[in-house]
Amino acid sequence: MKVAIIGSGIGGLGAAALLASRGYEVTVYEKNDVLGGRAAVYEAEGFTFDMGPSWYLMPDVFKQFFDLLDEDVDELLDLVRLDPSYRVFFEGTPEPVDIPADTKELAHIFEQFEAGAGAKLSKYLARVKAQYEVITTHYLWKNLQSPLTLVGRGAGKALIHVPLFGSVDSYVKRTFSSPKIRQLLEYTLVFLGASPYNAPAMYAMMAHVDYGLGVFYPQGGMYTLIEALVSIGKKHGVTFKLNTPITAIITQKGRATAIRLEDGSEPQYDIVISNADMEHTETVLLEESARSYPKTYWDRRTLGPSALLMYLGVKGDIEQFKHHTLYFSEDWSTHFKSIYESKDLPENPCFYLCAPSKTDPSVAPKGFENVFVLIPLPATHFNDSEMHTYAESIIDHISTVTGVKDFRERITYRRDFYPSEFITRYNSQSATALGLAHTLTQTAFLRPSGKSRKLKNLYYVGAGVHPGVGMPVCLISSHISAQQIFKDFPLAT
Ligand SMILES: Cc1cc2nc3c(=O)[nH]c(=O)nc-3n(C[C@H](O)[C@H](O)[C@H](O)COP(=O)(O)OP(=O)(O)OC[C@H]3O[C@@H](n4cnc5c(N)ncnc54)[C@H](O)[C@@H]3O)c2cc1C
Repeated sequence: MKVAIIGSGIGGLGAAALLASRGYEVTVYEKNDVLGGRAAVYEAEGFTFDMGPSWYLMPDVFKQFFDLLDEDVDELLDLVRLDPSYRVFFEGTPEPVDIPADTKELAHIFEQFEAGAGAKLSKYLARVKAQYEVITTHYLWKNLQSPLTLVGRGAGKALIHVPLFGSVDSYVKRTFSSPKIRQLLEYTLVFLGASPYNAPAMYAMMAHVDYGLGVFYPQGGMYTLIEALVSIGKKHGVTFKLNTPITAIITQKGRATAIRLEDGSEPQYDIVISNADMEHTETVLLEESARSYPKTYWDRRTLGPSALLMYLGVKGDIEQFKHHTLYFSEDWSTHFKSIYESKDLPENPCFYLCAPSKTDPSVAPKGFENVFVLIPLPATHFNDSEMHTYAESIIDHISTVTGVKDFRERITYRRDFYPSEFITRYNSQSATALGLAHTLTQTAFLRPSGKSRKLKNLYYVGAGVHPGVGMPVCLISSHISAQQIFKDFPLAT
């Protein structure tokens, strides 16, 4: 049975490996010159830059996924747990705060921010851990096609442990009042393309992901994860085609029969899986009658933020940075309002820096730091000259906030990645970096499912479908769609 996968993001690679390992004949078509989608890599002047993901979170999910392929994640990747997990610069506080991997030590830090918060932390973390376990057991790995799938086989009972109403911010505020603690328990929502104000309270469980499960890094870089998936795919016979954009999915009588390449050829397939952003697949690759959703559906979605990214080579050791470094501005709600409501360039932007060279000497020449900068921005159209000016101001902003006075002078290599590149490189809707935000109405069965509503043999994998954004979660979507395909199109034995 021949399967075409459009896009080589982690969801596409995961699906390719799962299907090929069961005997399906899989070809992956990628428009860019590198596999991995948003998790691509590039090398320049002795630096190896992971282009997107830098946090290896939810190690339990990665383990479970590789188990499905009979592979041992600990043999494939050289994972180290980071300690401190990360460093935070809080606006208005002169000294940064290092967040330890040990939650007992974290409790001391919470206590300094708010009397009594240290003791509250362990109960809070136990609560969100229980929520995480309910969600992963009953919902995350399941094909949620309707509200009924939420309550089947014990899942309904378990649901009472999960806070469904209100936002993450309101949930956190019920226990903690310190703004700094709130920021620490809420910032992870950005990983889901959401904000603490628009994400439903169930996502408070991200604090368990952060503090309970911990922050890991695969030595050699995040791309070693992509390489592992590609090599498993190759072992099972997957063919990978780079620089091969797909321009249409050809349909006939309720089925996808072929895909169209730029040269006009139309290779035929029994099954098509799209890992490209779903809005692109639906509105560009499919004719109207074959779309699961009308165009207006996409116009009304809440999109996760876009981002200004910078890949920097910096001379000398920067002692102010840890492997992960975050800056939180005091006016937390204004930051999120500018991203989701007013859609302006934030004036005092929160930012994230990753310096993997702190842990991994292989990613930078000796005597240099490899620094990745991420500034979350609204998913809208900014022109590149406006972005150029903004990027210049960001270099000064980083320098001021972190106290690295000669930051600009020490930069020996620099490549900026503007929001517009999310469109040109990944075919993303309105330059969103992450895809659909995890709001209440874009979660679980309300998120697009991995199976077309119109075509019997068209499936979707990746961040745009249930369960959603983030590398481990995209791999779950690969599993869900693969399971569906095993059921819909079993191989003759
Ligand atoms: C800057 C950034 C930082 C992030 N940080 C983290 C992190 O620290 N940890 C984490 O877990 N997650 C992180 N994420 C999220 C994570 O990277 C994504 O959720 C995940 O990688 C998306 O995978 P996907 O399967 O949806 O495919 P994508 O990565 O979106 O890939 C889709 C692929 O389809 C290709 N494509 C599109 N259209 C076509 C076409 N017509 N023909 C052929 N190919 C096509 C694209 O070129 C792309 O390669 C980050 C994302 C970004 C952008």
